[in-house]
Amino acid sequence: MPLQAEILSVGTELLLGEITDTNAQYISARLREIGVSVYRRETIGDNRSRLTGAFREALSRASLVIATGGLGPTGDDVTAECLAAALDLPLEFHEGAWEDMLEWFRLRGRTPATADRKQAMIIRGGIPFRNKNGTAPGQAILTDGKLACVLPGPPREMIPMFEEHLVPLIRSTFTDLVPLYIKNLKLSGIPESKVGEAIRDLMDSANPTVAPYAGRGQIRIRIAARHTDPAESRKMVDQAADEVKRRLSDYIYGEDEDTLESVVGEIMARRGLSIAVAESVTGGFLSHRLTNVPGSSRYFKMGVVAYSPAIKATCLGVPDEALRKDEAVNAETAVSMASGVRALAGAKIGVATTGFAGPTGGTENEPVGTVYVAVADEDGTEVERYVYTGSRTDIKEYGAGRALYVLWRRLMKSRRSPQGPKEGTVK
Ligand code: ATP
Ligand code: MG
Repeated sequence: MPLQAEILSVGTELLLGEITDTNAQYISARLREIGVSVYRRETIGDNRSRLTGAFREALSRASLVIATGGLGPTGDDVTAECLAAALDLPLEFHEGAWEDMLEWFRLRGRTPATADRKQAMIIRGGIPFRNKNGTAPGQAILTDGKLACVLPGPPREMIPMFEEHLVPLIRSTFTDLVPLYIKNLKLSGIPESKVGEAIRDLMDSANPTVAPYAGRGQIRIRIAARHTDPAESRKMVDQAADEVKRRLSDYIYGEDEDTLESVVGEIMARRGLSIAVAESVTGGFLSHRLTNVPGSSRYFKMGVVAYSPAIKATCLGVPDEALRKDEAVNAETAVSMASGVRALAGAKIGVATTGFAGPTGGTENEPVGTVYVAVADEDGTEVERYVYTGSRTDIKEYGAGRALYVLWRRLMKSRRSPQGPKEGTVK
């Protein structure tokens, strides 16, 4: 029988609908990956008797109980106390946990309040989890073969603690877990329906599972397998991934943590290329994404947000005829902006966007949501037009994503073409 877990989300504000329970969602997804089945999730307010009862019930059913929230110094933070009551064990002041908290305060030039001592109360026999991103330590206790633990509510405290302390503890306590091996393939430039069509037969498989997830202009195909032999699950995933890659290679830009900006950045750095960006409709969003990559100063030279026609003309050399047509939302403007910024910065590559983000405006030919993306390099220029739907920020975001995709595609093509620059040569 698989290891059964239950998750308790503690906090009245969850019940009131004031915050969304992302903790339980995160923990569920991670437990599944490490081979633990979540059988039940419950939300409880900051109430001693209900919370103690919930702990008792969960521990009567499950071997692993994880609660988040209610660890702070205030009176309504009662989670540790309720777990102790459910286990009929006392809370004791823990010197080590208190030392860790004092260190946290000291590093920030602060002194703890008397109420803070409460957070160093650990259930007898329990293990404190140091909180690197806040004051309240978490804790776990193993009794009768059952592991119960409490983690802080704020996700930025909960997640690192879950990963660094709880995951290893779960693995060392329950040694027969069969983890999922997972690989994500990242795609751009193709609609979800086409991805579905291309891999429909693979999606019928139960182990490995192959499933596409669409979000904000890109798609992730998640491939996961479970096998008692980790090498075998890896092989199952790799085989399925190879098949997906064979079918969709034109759109798969990376895996797992890769982003379009990190992948194009990697390629540009490796080839010694540089880039300059001229943005109208994306308003800086494209430059923002490109410069989110650590080390982007190796290739990112300049970003211009050229919003007014006068700036498009004077800074980037866009001709008057182009600026007059459809309020400068046209292919010629995009191309001139890309070549113009490339020349201005002395970069190897110029990328530009122009369009209508809405919600009002647009012309008969070019409705709201129209985005032109152009790329210029020493082999010439290319331009593409898309019409998106969504809010103003959606369109900015989609436009920037599309520009990164067009850039990636062009970089890939230039590598493949016989005349194009070879990998590793400085262009
Ligand atoms: P603190 O020391 O900040 O009081 P805590 O461990 O006592 O932390 P809570 O007081 O329950 O936690 O929640 C603090 C904040 O953490 C909430 O206001 C909310 O922003 C976030 N939070 C709590 N529980 C969840 C949850 N289940 N999902 C997402 N966010 C949560
Ligand atoms: Mg609190």
